[in-house]
Amino acid sequence: MINGSSLKVAVRVRPFNQREKAMRSKCIISMAGNNCTILDPKDLQNKRTFTFDYCYWSTDGYIENDQGVFLPNGPHSRYISQEHVFNELGRAVLENAWNGYNATIFSYGQTGSGKSYLMTGYGGNKGLVPMICEALFQEIKQRQSKDGQFYVYFSMFEIYNEQVQDLLSKVFANQFMTKHSEINLVDLAGSERQRSAGTAPDRFNEARAINLSLTTLGNVISSLSDKAVGKRVQYIPYRNSILTRLLSTALGGNSKTIMVTMISPADIYYDETMSTLRFAERAKNVQNRAVINESLTEQLLMDLKEDNTGLRARIADLEKAGDVHIDEQEVLKKLIVDNERQLKDMQKSWQQKLEEARREWEQQYSCIIKEEQMMAELPYFLNVNEDPQLSGAVKHFIHHGITTIGRTAGLQQDIVLKGLGILDKHAVLTSHDHKVVLEPINKARILINGVPVLTKHQLQHLDRVIIGSCSFYLYVGFPHERNDRDKIHKYNYEFFASELASIEGFGKVNVGMGEELKENLDPDLARIFHDFIAIMPMVAQANQISEELNKGVIFEPEVKNLTSTDAKGEGLEKEIIVKVINKVTKQVEIWPRDKFTDRKLLIEGIYQHFLENGTIPNMVEQDPFWDSVEILHLGSAHVWLETLAYCIAYEDQVEAINYRGKEEAIIQIRLLPCSPSGNPLGEESVIVDPDDLLGKRMDFQMQITLCLGVKWIQGNSSRGVQIGFMMYGLPAMLYTPAVWNNANFEMDYTMCFMIQHVTADFLSYLKTHAVVLELWGLQEGCQEMETEFAHVALAGNGSVLLDLCYRNQWTSVPQDSEKCRSKLSEQLKMLEEEIENLKDANRSLKSENIKMQRELERLRNLPSSSGLVTNGGPMKSANDRSDQKSPFPSWDAEFAKALKTFYFSMIGVRARLIHLKEVRPLDEGRILCLRYFANERNQLIEELGEELESCVGKLKNDIAKIIKRKKELQIDAVSPP
Ligand code: ADP
Ligand code: MG
Repeated sequence: MINGSSLKVAVRVRPFNQREKAMRSKCIISMAGNNCTILDPKDLQNKRTFTFDYCYWSTDGYIENDQGVFLPNGPHSRYISQEHVFNELGRAVLENAWNGYNATIFSYGQTGSGKSYLMTGYGGNKGLVPMICEALFQEIKQRQSKDGQFYVYFSMFEIYNEQVQDLLSKVFANQFMTKHSEINLVDLAGSERQRSAGTAPDRFNEARAINLSLTTLGNVISSLSDKAVGKRVQYIPYRNSILTRLLSTALGGNSKTIMVTMISPADIYYDETMSTLRFAERAKNVQNRAVINESLTEQLLMDLKEDNTGLRARIADLEKAGDVHIDEQEVLKKLIVDNERQLKDMQKSWQQKLEEARREWEQQYSCIIKEEQMMAELPYFLNVNEDPQLSGAVKHFIHHGITTIGRTAGLQQDIVLKGLGILDKHAVLTSHDHKVVLEPINKARILINGVPVLTKHQLQHLDRVIIGSCSFYLYVGFPHERNDRDKIHKYNYEFFASELASIEGFGKVNVGMGEELKENLDPDLARIFHDFIAIMPMVAQANQISEELNKGVIFEPEVKNLTSTDAKGEGLEKEIIVKVINKVTKQVEIWPRDKFTDRKLLIEGIYQHFLENGTIPNMVEQDPFWDSVEILHLGSAHVWLETLAYCIAYEDQVEAINYRGKEEAIIQIRLLPCSPSGNPLGEESVIVDPDDLLGKRMDFQMQITLCLGVKWIQGNSSRGVQIGFMMYGLPAMLYTPAVWNNANFEMDYTMCFMIQHVTADFLSYLKTHAVVLELWGLQEGCQEMETEFAHVALAGNGSVLLDLCYRNQWTSVPQDSEKCRSKLSEQLKMLEEEIENLKDANRSLKSENIKMQRELERLRNLPSSSGLVTNGGPMKSANDRSDQKSPFPSWDAEFAKALKTFYFSMIGVRARLIHLKEVRPLDEGRILCLRYFANERNQLIEELGEELESCVGKLKNDIAKIIKRKKELQIDAVSPP
């Protein structure tokens, strides 16, 4: 009997965990009926709805009862409890099993998403495995009392690091079974990331699934799903991992299978959750063909029994009839004996197997007892894993005397570790006089409490010991050192990782205060902190593999700040990148975090292959350690355009700041307003009101004259640089010619721009934007950027024409709303208001001026009897037209001068403002002490505030002086002698 059906897919969203709460994450998941909707936290309009067979909301609406069981908090609660899931999914599995179908439930999701909670459960919240087992035994009891003898055989595995451990007993030959069913209840453990499965293909997609259970599971499901929708699939990679080999009947085979996808509700895991949901969507397509498993044994048993009954009846008949066919009776009796022996044999083989199982179980039990004894007497190392469920699974006891740690065992009591970066003979432990001393052999890598250890070190109870690059152990000391109040669970994976991160660059971050600190962090920084900590051990592993495989590549994680590329200086987003450095050529690649995590899987695969076969697999495509070299963005400098709006020439040396917030180079730049013939305009052309430019033609030049102290080239003189920039929505970047091998060079770069009709849009662009000079690093083997500007329209005089630009392109910069910067923006706003006020004052003064000039004119035209002074005063004859303006100092020019001074000082302030925004809690690319950073920033804000005040104060003063002088003159001019 074949039952074709697709894999059933459920999705369950768990409550927020402590970390997510600390980061003040928002919920991006909602559920209605069978629909699950996910919001993009960066763009709330962007949502996506998925439909599954079951959607389980377990994020809120629950209370904890006395037994610690989470239950819905009322009749209207949407909370789905463990029991609900069991009633819906667990019972279906049992039902299928009793009917002779194979049945499987497995949970899928990133570490910490609730897989173990669902399958095993925690405390009073029993999971599917115990609940299914209980229900199974209950049913067995009932059936036994009804149907007589009845056997159930159990096995349970754990797959850890691609090794199967049989936890109960060995998988039985089933010749004796009648109807049988295999129930697989799978709790995927371990720290494999599933983010890449089923997401955007990169050219390494095929090679990705080398050894990791979870990745292979992803690929198996992808292939099965492709097959189901009619794509040609050459083979299903079941054999690529132990998990998928074991599950091959559950997936795309003879089984009724349910996959429960576990997700977090938090915005910080948007990417991971999205890829998990996409994966689940694909899994829905997988088709299974479940068959009732019936064996001939049952038939055989029934036949034998029936046979015997028949034979006995026949003998009885014969006896009754007095028919003495001795021969026949003998034959019949012999048949009965034979049948009974066969029945007994079958029974016996079962008994024997049961016996074997019992013995094995006893052996394991005695091991457990022995382990408990040793724990009570000896110091030991306890493993710590990213998956809390695997933490504590391994214990290495330290006996009296000498124990070596390494890849190979010498003495019986030696500790054999297979992890990354562990040498054949790695370290020696000496246990003597209730003290354990650890000594690395030949500079082997060992960190104790985050600090590298080079010589003998006496271990203290609860020391964190990292052996090689990623084998984490907690040292549990002698019984007398232990305490009931020891918080062993505190030393989890995250604790180790933060401690490791602290020595690798997080500087003064106090690990012990991690949680408290994180609670006080702004969420963006907290996310980066979390991502950085998460990537650190992966980078350490990749480096170790690179070293062991002699790849000559170093990986370095860094925090990249995106402010530098934003023309308004406002982009405050940060992201984790990994720098890949070729040790020999010093060539550098920059990989985004996702690319690194994808490559890391491949790198691990290659390493696994290397361990198994002693060779590196031929990479048909490309080496995952290294791509082709590309031009790199080194840093950016902002040159504010505002002076152009007042036709003021501007020259400055600006710092190109790299993503670590450090100076990468100094660039000398000029912005020159020009006449149509290309000659720079003088001071006389300075205007007070930019609106005067509206509708007029405007020409200006940008000159780059000098580039000093280019760190990139100082680092290696075979390198070069190019400077790229955008202007008012040009369709493409413009690049200067490349300069190689020189860290300090003069440049003779001039670019002329022209706009035929200045628009309000263009003016507003000038007033609020900077030209971002992007410094790009060239290295051997990479292509220079094109200096020809094919996509740009040129005016007749060769200037780049700005009239044709795509409007509004430059306005699409997202506004930043971060709290910690609100103070700054407030100040900036106040300043802008102040400027507006001053402009207003200026305007009214200007109109007053005009009025007064008219008045003067009028007075001048009056007959001399009016008593107006015509000589001796600052005024000359009214007929002297050529000098008509000169007797009065030109008020406009004076105002303009004052404003010019003000704008120049403002440029300084602006630069500091940008600097302030760009300063990051980083040292050498890594987050330095965050508190220190906050203090420093506060101080900078204060300084900036003072500077702003003094600029505005000076401008006010200047204007007041001008007005005063003007009034005096005016009085002089009109007052009678
Ligand atoms: P995984 O096995 O996927 O790595 P766990 O099952 O260990 O994740 O879950 C991580 C944490 O989240 C645990 O502390 C667990 O108690 C909690 N958790 C997960 N799902 C739920 C749920 N539905 N209700 C309450 N707590 C949950
Ligand atoms: Mg788990």
